[in-house]
Amino acid sequence: MASCPVSAGSAGSTDGGGARPLAVVVVGGSICGLAVAHGLLHALPGCKITVLERAHHITEGGAGLGLDRETCAALADWGLAAGLQEASLPLDAEINRAVNSKTKTAREIYRDDHYDHRSCHWALLHQLLRGALPEGVLLLGHTMTAFESIDGGRRVRVHVAERAEPLEGDLMVAADGNMSSTREKLVGDKRRYAGYVAWRGVMAADEESKQATEDDAQLGESKHSGAAAVARHLQHEYPALGRALYFDLAHHTHSVLYMLPGTRINWLWYVNQAEPPLSPHSLTVQPDAAQVERMREDAARTWTPPMAALMQATARPFINAIFDRDPISRWVFDRVVLVGEAAHPVTPHGLRATNMSIIDAHTLARCLKEHLAAGGTARDLDAALDRFQKARIPVTTQEVLFSRYLGQLKQGLVTVPGIHDWDGADENQAAVLGQKHMHHFNPLD
Ligand SMILES: Cc1cc2nc3c(=O)[nH]c(=O)nc-3n(C[C@H](O)[C@H](O)[C@H](O)COP(=O)(O)OP(=O)(O)OC[C@H]3O[C@@H](n4cnc5c(N)ncnc54)[C@H](O)[C@@H]3O)c2cc1C
Repeated sequence: MASCPVSAGSAGSTDGGGARPLAVVVVGGSICGLAVAHGLLHALPGCKITVLERAHHITEGGAGLGLDRETCAALADWGLAAGLQEASLPLDAEINRAVNSKTKTAREIYRDDHYDHRSCHWALLHQLLRGALPEGVLLLGHTMTAFESIDGGRRVRVHVAERAEPLEGDLMVAADGNMSSTREKLVGDKRRYAGYVAWRGVMAADEESKQATEDDAQLGESKHSGAAAVARHLQHEYPALGRALYFDLAHHTHSVLYMLPGTRINWLWYVNQAEPPLSPHSLTVQPDAAQVERMREDAARTWTPPMAALMQATARPFINAIFDRDPISRWVFDRVVLVGEAAHPVTPHGLRATNMSIIDAHTLARCLKEHLAAGGTARDLDAALDRFQKARIPVTTQEVLFSRYLGQLKQGLVTVPGIHDWDGADENQAAVLGQKHMHHFNPLD
């Protein structure tokens, strides 16, 4: 592998940029920011990477996500294959079922046995990426407050709330998420509320649901089954649980079910409703006890008993408000480049967000490596950055718009001719649900 040319001049210096390591400031230390650090350190040994993360502690929060084959290959490229194997489970099949909420019955309407993903908990993937970075790359509790082009647009200065002196670099990679202040400054577009929220939860199948029991005590009643019994009923109703991704489709609503390592069962339930009030930095809402109880009652009305029991037995379910943004045609602004959720916030229906972020990181690193290997320098990054955005914008545009369409379809916000309810759909009509269509989706069709 070619390394970036190293000679005199420390990272961050302005020595003319001929032969010196690339200095990159990454804003955001979530999945994408850490993946960018891995990608660059792997492709360009010797380059200087600083990842700024606003949070002082990375929470143990989050829930499940799915990783596709290309993403797993990128992680393996960075030496993380063994860790990934341990932290994830295969998701070999995608199965969609139509649920009749009156009869509480379900039937399979679409199945793809070549799904080829792996499931992982967000916190485990984050730990894996973080644990393998060299000491000193990730600076927790460091907030980027402003940035500006310097040196005729060939370098960038980054202001950090916790540092008296700004950082300077050849590139600022903005991995600051779906509420990106970088994008707000450079693009200024509005996010789009999808029209629904996702209730989410993870239940540990091998222990009694202590929190659910505490919740019951608070509510003065006890009607939720133990987690082990819930898991047994689920396995009976969803025999491929442990290697399949299940979608249940009822009238204008759908739920998602899959297993995570450590016999944890991950679920989501999308509910059409008005946009909830949000804090400035998070799309997550912590529901109060009354909201949780209402959700549990609605679950019993909507889903088959095993799924309703899972939603009732899960401790601390939470709510994600679902947003995306219209795709944009430019991610590069002098020496600032948008990546991950900052570049292409996406609804979760195609399990794309994490995959898109990791592939952004891998592609950006490859473009910079090829540029430097071909004799380019840290000062003339225009062509390499342009190649990056040209490689990624068309495909991520499709992914954002396909995910949006799939969500609208499953929530009954758009209809397909001839399908009034998934319960009445035949195999051909239900084929539209397949995630594999993502790669052939043309938003202009
Ligand atoms: C705590 C957490 C839990 C998550 N759990 C899940 C999950 O269970 N399943 C799932 O599919 N996705 C989850 N996500 C989202 C997931 O990480 C993204 O969808 C995607 O995988 C990668 O997004 P990203 O790294 O581009 O942006 P994000 O994950 O949104 O991260 C952006 C990061 O930038 C930081 N940041 C923002 N502004 C600044 C600033 N000015 N200075 C410094 N830092 C800044 C934020 O604190 C955040 O850590 C979670 C995200 C977070 C932060």
